[in-house]
Amino acid sequence: MSLSEIQSRIAKAESAAGRPSGATKLIAVSKRQADDVVETVLKESHRLFGENQVQEAAGKWPTFRETYPDAKVHLLGPLQTNKARQAIGLFDAIHSLDRPKLAKTLARLAQEEGSCPDLFIQVNTGEEEQKSGVLLADVDDFATECRALDLPVVGLMCIPPAHEEPSLHFALLAKLASRNGLAGLSMGMSGDYERAVALGATHVRVGSAIFGARDY
Ligand SMILES: *Cc1c(COP(=O)(O)O)cnc(C)c1O
Repeated sequence: MSLSEIQSRIAKAESAAGRPSGATKLIAVSKRQADDVVETVLKESHRLFGENQVQEAAGKWPTFRETYPDAKVHLLGPLQTNKARQAIGLFDAIHSLDRPKLAKTLARLAQEEGSCPDLFIQVNTGEEEQKSGVLLADVDDFATECRALDLPVVGLMCIPPAHEEPSLHFALLAKLASRNGLAGLSMGMSGDYERAVALGATHVRVGSAIFGARDY
């Protein structure tokens, strides 16, 4: 599917839900895609991208940004504390804030660096053992802790369990965000981004539907 087709589907879903046009930002997830495929989308004037790994992003985005200095890149995958400083320098937002140790490290480094990317708290809405993210019972306390650390938390993020109806998880995430006074909702991927838009997503993360299958 082309980038413009996905954008028009998002616009339709916004309108059907009575949301303002442009309320949802499309993050083009460029992880494990060939550079020329990513560049095609840059040439179409798209400027918001998502990556899963610090290392991979560090290998390609500094070069892309020489040509496209206004490109924004968000980290979607897990962040180790020993890569947090590098991540602060590389990303415009981090969607995987998921534990107190990382929050404390980011707060300290943000002080030292004088800046911090926008942060989304990742919530493990399906309470899956293998998945990262804050457990439901801990979300409110963790959001409060992050606020006390002066971290720029802008919203919540989730990756619903593979075999459950994602809309239930999107609605739950929206409720948790609202309860914590957070406006941002990072939810929805290639298979379910329209349902996420219907439930208030401010950021959808779409990879394979734009770029095609990845090399795994
Ligand atoms: C890879 C990835 C996506 C994009 O997945 P697609 O199914 O290719 O759209 C979205 N969010 C996260 C966290 C990812 O790791």
